[in-house]
Amino acid sequence: MQLIRKMTAEYAGYLFDESRTMGQADFIAFPTCEDELVQAVRWCAENNVPLTAQGGMTGLAGGASPERGLALNLSRMNRILGMRRDESGAYFLRVQPGLLLTQLRRALAAKSFDLSGWDEASVETLRPVKAGELFFPPDPTEPTASLGGMAACNACGARSVLYGCTRAHVNALRVVLADGRVTRLVRGRDRARGRHISLPLEGGGAFEAELPSFDTPPIKDAGYYIRENMDLVDLFMGSQGTLGLISELELRLMPAPKHLWGLTAFFPDDENALAYVRAVKGRPDQGVPAFPHRAASIEFFNKNALDMVVRQKALTPAFRQLQELPENYNCAVYLEFNGGDPAEMLPILRDLTKVLLAVGGDIERTWVARDQLELEQLLFFRHSIPETIDLIIEENKKKEPCITILSTDMAVDDDHFDELFHIYKRDLSATSLQWIIFGHIGENHVHPNILARTKEEYEQGHAIFEKWARDVHRMGGSISAEHGAGKIKKKLALIMYGPEKMRELVNLKRAFDPQGLLGPGNILTYGGEVRS
Ligand SMILES: Cc1cc2nc3c(=O)[nH]c(=O)nc-3n(C[C@H](O)[C@H](O)[C@H](O)COP(=O)(O)OP(=O)(O)OC[C@H]3O[C@@H](n4cnc5c(N)ncnc54)[C@H](O)[C@@H]3O)c2cc1C
Repeated sequence: MQLIRKMTAEYAGYLFDESRTMGQADFIAFPTCEDELVQAVRWCAENNVPLTAQGGMTGLAGGASPERGLALNLSRMNRILGMRRDESGAYFLRVQPGLLLTQLRRALAAKSFDLSGWDEASVETLRPVKAGELFFPPDPTEPTASLGGMAACNACGARSVLYGCTRAHVNALRVVLADGRVTRLVRGRDRARGRHISLPLEGGGAFEAELPSFDTPPIKDAGYYIRENMDLVDLFMGSQGTLGLISELELRLMPAPKHLWGLTAFFPDDENALAYVRAVKGRPDQGVPAFPHRAASIEFFNKNALDMVVRQKALTPAFRQLQELPENYNCAVYLEFNGGDPAEMLPILRDLTKVLLAVGGDIERTWVARDQLELEQLLFFRHSIPETIDLIIEENKKKEPCITILSTDMAVDDDHFDELFHIYKRDLSATSLQWIIFGHIGENHVHPNILARTKEEYEQGHAIFEKWARDVHRMGGSISAEHGAGKIKKKLALIMYGPEKMRELVNLKRAFDPQGLLGPGNILTYGGEVRS
C-alpha cells in the first residue's frame, strides 16, 4: 500500500477535528509503525511539504485540521508494544501514539492484550496482573482521544483535580524530529541544563538548542512547557505537533481505585454552587463545615447547560435515557470520589451532607451513584453536554460554514476564579448570544461555550474571548488549560505570551523545524501577524 496518497474526497473526514475547523490537504498518509512515520516525515522534508499530525481528531482547537500539505494520520499506529515494572513496583506500558484511550481502557479492564511482537520480559511482567487492577488516570472525557494527541495537548479533564494531567503519567517518549531523526527521552534522565537542551539521537549525536528565557504559566496550561532544568519529555507535551511527532509513549500506570462514587447536587443559584466548591476544595466560607476529603472530579453545569440538555433529550433518541432533572433547578455540581472500600464513603457522605446543607443545597435534589451502573448514568449526563454542543454546532455550520466550536478553557488560581466566573456571566448576559458554562470548576477552569448561529455572532464570540484573554492574563492565568491554542485560539496565545515571548517561541520552533513544516498554523504567530 502506497504510504503517501493523494488527498481525495474519500478522505474528506480527515480535514477537520471536533472543533469543526475545516482544513485542506494535498496528501494523506496512514503510517503503521515508526519506520513508516519517519519515511513520511523525510518525504515531507525533501519535498518541502508541511504536515499535520492527527490522532483521534477529537481536539477542540483545530490543531489536527491540516492547513495544507500532508495530513499525517496516526490512527493505524495503535498497538500496545510491551510492559515493564520498575524496582518500586510501578507498571509501565509502551504504546503507539494512535492508540485510543478507549482501547487502552478496554485492554486494562479485561486484561486483553494482543501479545504479538511483545518480548518475553513484557509477557512475564503482564502474567500476574489481574484484569482491572491497573489504570491510566487522565480522562479528557472523550474516550476516542489518542494517547499521542493527549500527550501533544497535555490533556487534562474531569479527574485531573486528583490525578494531574497527562504529563504526570507519561514517563518516556520517542519523537520523530522534522528531518526524520529520532530521539528517545526518559523522564528524570534527559533534562535541560539550565536553558540548554541536548536531545540524544538514535544512531548517535545530539540535537542542541536553547530554551526561551521565560517560564510558561505556572497554572494548568495546555501549551508549551518551558522551565530551567526541565524534563525534556515535557517539551513535547503541549507542543501540539509543532516541534516533533510522538511516535511512542511509555505510560506510567496506577493501581485502579476499587470503588468510584458520584454525586450530582442541584442548587438554587450559582453562588450556592461556588460556596459548595470552595468548601469541597478545603476553602470553606465562614460558617460552612470543613470537608477533609479529596474529590477526584469537581464539575459544574450552569442553568443554560442544563436547559440545553433537557431540550436535546426530546430531540435525540440516544439522550432519552438521561435522568429527569429535579424541578426548579438552577445549576449543578458533580463530585466523584475514588477509594478502596465502600465503607470509606460513609464519612465522606456524612461530611458532604453537612456542607451541602450549609451552602443551600438539598439532599432531595442530589443524585447519588452507589454502583458502576449509576455512576455511568451521571457520567453520561456530564458527557451529554459537550456532545449536545457538537450537534448544535454541526447544525449551525450547515447555514454558516465559518462557524466552529467556540469553547474556552481559561484557567486562573483559586484567588481569581470567582472574579473570572462573574466576568464570564456579566459579559455573556449583556449579549443576545446563546451560551452555556460547564466544566472543571475544581481546577478553576470552566468552559463558557458560545453557540454562534451567524457569522456576526461567531465574530462577536471571538471578540469576547479576546477580552477574557486580557482579563486572564492580568490575573496571571492561562488562556487554555487543556485544549491548546491550536488554530482557533492563536490570537489568545499572542495576548498571553505578548510579542517578545512569542518571538522566543518562534525561535525555538525554528531551531527544531527550520523549514516550518510541522503543524503549520498551530499556536504560533510570526512577526505579530495572526493567520487564521
Ligand atoms: C466531547 C469532548 C470533550 C472533551 N473534553 C476534554 C476535557 O475534558 N479535557 C481535555 O483535555 N480535552 C477535552 N477534549 C479535547 C480532546 O479530546 C483532547 O484535546 C485530546 O487530547 C485530543 O486528542 P486527539 O488524539 O483527538 O488529538 P487530535 O485532535 O488528533 O490532535 C490534537 C493536537 O495534537 C497533535 N497531535 C496528535 N497526535 C500527535 C502526535 N503523535 N505527535 C505530535 N502531535 C500530535 C495534533 O497535530 C493537534 O495539534 C474534549 C473533546 C471532546 C470532543
